[in-house]
Amino acid sequence: MKIIDGKLLAANLRAEIAAGVQELKATRGIVPGLAVILVGNNPASVSYVTAKEKACAEAGMYSREIRLPETTTEAELVARVKRLNADPAIHGILVQLPVPKHIRDKAVIDAIAPEKDVDGFTPVNVGKMLIGEKCFLPCTPHGILKLIEFSGMDVKGKHAVVIGRSNIVGKPVAVLLARKETNATVTLCHTGTPDVASFTRTADIVVVAAGRPGTLTGDMLKPGAVVIDVGVNRIPDATRPKGFRLVGDADFESCAAVAGAITPVPGGVGPMTITMLLWNTLEAAK
Ligand code: NAP
Repeated sequence: MKIIDGKLLAANLRAEIAAGVQELKATRGIVPGLAVILVGNNPASVSYVTAKEKACAEAGMYSREIRLPETTTEAELVARVKRLNADPAIHGILVQLPVPKHIRDKAVIDAIAPEKDVDGFTPVNVGKMLIGEKCFLPCTPHGILKLIEFSGMDVKGKHAVVIGRSNIVGKPVAVLLARKETNATVTLCHTGTPDVASFTRTADIVVVAAGRPGTLTGDMLKPGAVVIDVGVNRIPDATRPKGFRLVGDADFESCAAVAGAITPVPGGVGPMTITMLLWNTLEAAK
């Protein structure tokens, strides 16, 4: 059984991205710039935003963090996004989700110019992804594809099961795996699927993005399957300094005993999500 090391793959790709940033600076005098907007103080969001800033700096990019209070209105946030759309120093705009409940995600995402939508969430980029046009691919699904490739699995003709149908993970992963150039046969499971295990037991690849620990267990796997665990769940743990530890959606121990390869949590999908954000920001600047 192989651990699919997301940190290693991310480090390799980030070195390539950093070289690309240097080349863009040297040849065209352009410094890729990413603006990250955070509304409120959700602790998980604060840590994601901090990690994104650090990654930008390490890649030689310019990053601008815009922290807004929880009381920010939808109109204020949309106006802020529109100012960034017109700012030539900014090539990528990311609004950290979730935003407070009084703000509609859709209103904010729709305000981002598609050519600066480095998260790949706007309807224009989602539509282009669906019909196979060049676009910014959503970061987590794009990172998942890279991890499957890195595992050594040749995806063509394989059966992939995706558990979860969210717009940010499950659905786009299913679309990307089913594209002609990837050519997997895809089954998309969700809470309306009566017997998820009956599908996962025939899967060569399982991507689990349910947001619930223990969604995938070893007895649900075909021996040798590649498992990509997208889940990030905080489990109370008094032995840890922060009082919690992170676990995925797969029961690591039982899955690792059957799988051919598996991503750990942390250290699997997470580092790849930020890496693909840097990738898109470099592309946007180009
Ligand atoms: P989400 O919006 O809550 O969607 C979860 C999906 O899983 C839903 O479609 C739900 O089905 C389905 N589901 C839940 N329990 C299930 C079960 N027992 N069997 C089958 N399907 C089940 O979550 P998300 O935004 O996609 O995120 C999923 C997980 O990935 C979360 O833990 C999140 O923190 C993590 N995540 C990690 C990264 C990263 O970079 N590492 C990025 C994004 C998300 P219904 O549609 O029927 O409700």
